[in-house]
Amino acid sequence: MCQWRFQGGYFWDAARTFAFHRDRFTCRSCHRRYRRPQLEVDHIVEIARGGAPLDPSNLQTLCRHCHREKTRRFLRSRGEGAGQRADPGPAFRSGGGAFDVAEWFPA
Ligand SMILES: [Zn+2]
Repeated sequence: MCQWRFQGGYFWDAARTFAFHRDRFTCRSCHRRYRRPQLEVDHIVEIARGGAPLDPSNLQTLCRHCHREKTRRFLRSRGEGAGQRADPGPAFRSGGGAFDVAEWFPA
């Protein structure tokens, strides 16, 4: 995880660009096309759940709105799912969307 955060900038950018083009700048959740600044790349299986951070098959294009909804659902499900998972680390405890990789590496 630390290694990913450290080296992630360059590779994440390349993977993200790939996902945007593959998905033709269309949100996979609401199926609408957006301009680049409105789009974010989401991890289908969250990294915290063992998803591959840079594997294109684990990436999908979402608009900001849908991504936020998904992240919110994810965080909520973590809260309710009490105790099946080990504590993933300080990034999650700080709250306020710290999970959002797109915010760690802003475009
Ligand atoms: Zn959308």
